[in-house]
Amino acid sequence: MTVQSRSAEVIIIGGGLHGSSAALHLARAGVGALVIEKNYVGRHASGVNAGGVRTLARHLAEVPLALASRELWYRIGDLVDDDCGFEQHGQVRVAENAADAEALRARLATMTAHGYTHEQWISPEDLLALIPALAPTVQGGLIAREDAAADPYRTTLAFRMKAASLGARFMEGVRVRGVTRDGGQWRVDTDAGVYTAPRVLNCAGAWADRIAEQWGEPVPLTAISPMMLVTLRMDHFLDPVVLGTGRALSFKQRANGTVLIGGGRRAWVDRDAEWTELDFRSLAEGARTVCDLFPHMRDAIVNRGWAGIEAAMPDEIPVIGRSSRHETAFHAFGFSAHGFELGPIVGRIMADLITTGATDMPIAPFRIERFSDAAPASGPSKEQDQ
Ligand SMILES: Cc1cc2nc3c(=O)[nH]c(=O)nc-3n(C[C@H](O)[C@H](O)[C@H](O)COP(=O)(O)OP(=O)(O)OC[C@H]3O[C@@H](n4cnc5c(N)ncnc54)[C@H](O)[C@@H]3O)c2cc1C
Repeated sequence: MTVQSRSAEVIIIGGGLHGSSAALHLARAGVGALVIEKNYVGRHASGVNAGGVRTLARHLAEVPLALASRELWYRIGDLVDDDCGFEQHGQVRVAENAADAEALRARLATMTAHGYTHEQWISPEDLLALIPALAPTVQGGLIAREDAAADPYRTTLAFRMKAASLGARFMEGVRVRGVTRDGGQWRVDTDAGVYTAPRVLNCAGAWADRIAEQWGEPVPLTAISPMMLVTLRMDHFLDPVVLGTGRALSFKQRANGTVLIGGGRRAWVDRDAEWTELDFRSLAEGARTVCDLFPHMRDAIVNRGWAGIEAAMPDEIPVIGRSSRHETAFHAFGFSAHGFELGPIVGRIMADLITTGATDMPIAPFRIERFSDAAPASGPSKEQDQ
């Protein structure tokens, strides 16, 4: 395969973390992928997120994947030759009041009933000993001590660089306009001409429904735009990532002293224009939560805010797996604002599915058919490999 070749063994649409991770795991299996990215690798959600490596508070269906991914995160340097800014200080979900504490105890009971031990109760005293800057009124919380955080853009680039070093190709600034079957191959029409491959993978993030639709698989994807704020540098006061329970908050201090504030508050977004606008009223509400939990943050100075464009599914879990219509087409999208942590394992799952037809991870809950189970779509039945 030459650099100029217009064919590849697999074409991946989208150069976020999931496309790059799939390309890396495919390259490790000896399969040459071509990643086509309309902007640049890491331009969207994968490059601008909060970097949370979180198993805490996951949807039950995601827990096995999140735990397996965390194992890969612990060996991220072996995987991509870069530590990706990975730091393990744990993540803690704080109860601000009795209702929060009750919700967290119910969550813990669910985790225990399923045999999971990675989320543990932390008493108010232990929580305040761990994070003295917290308001003394906190009622305890749930902690995942082995959770962590990493640098999102650096991580995505590290996956890309390692994949490229093993033979994957990346085309940036090239938009995929159509992905159709043509004589036993996939024909990928782009604004830089036609590319072909026997297999295709849809990792197109907030635009992935457009690809799925072309394969006869409409999905109710919404483009959302979570917002982030970052402060000027402050004296060190926090190691773990802190999450809210009744109120949206994700809060962490980075190694350079700046404080990163997120938690799911959303900007206005137009995905076609690739435009977002911060909602300052909502950010002000978020700032109140921050100051209630960390009173000294009243003196913090916000330096910058931004928003990323991300795909959300109605059930807030992604689509991962083979197309319901085509044996040779695959999906990994819809990570609903928590897909960064899953990047390492989902790339491995997709490479396994593409190269062997199977995966050892429980991905049934993520099948794309769940959106059409109630009303089977009319149209062609599943096409076989040719
Ligand atoms: C502000 C924010 C904070 C977040 N915080 C966290 C966190 O702390 N922890 C966590 O686990 N997750 C977090 N997330 C979620 C996480 O960032 C995403 O779930 C994850 O990055 C999704 O990766 P992706 O590869 O699916 O999508 P993306 O990174 O969006 O990549 C998809 C790519 O496909 C390209 N593309 C789309 N259509 C086409 C086309 N037709 N042709 C060519 N290219 C195309 C796009 O340009 C894009 O680059 C956060 C997200 C945001 C926005």
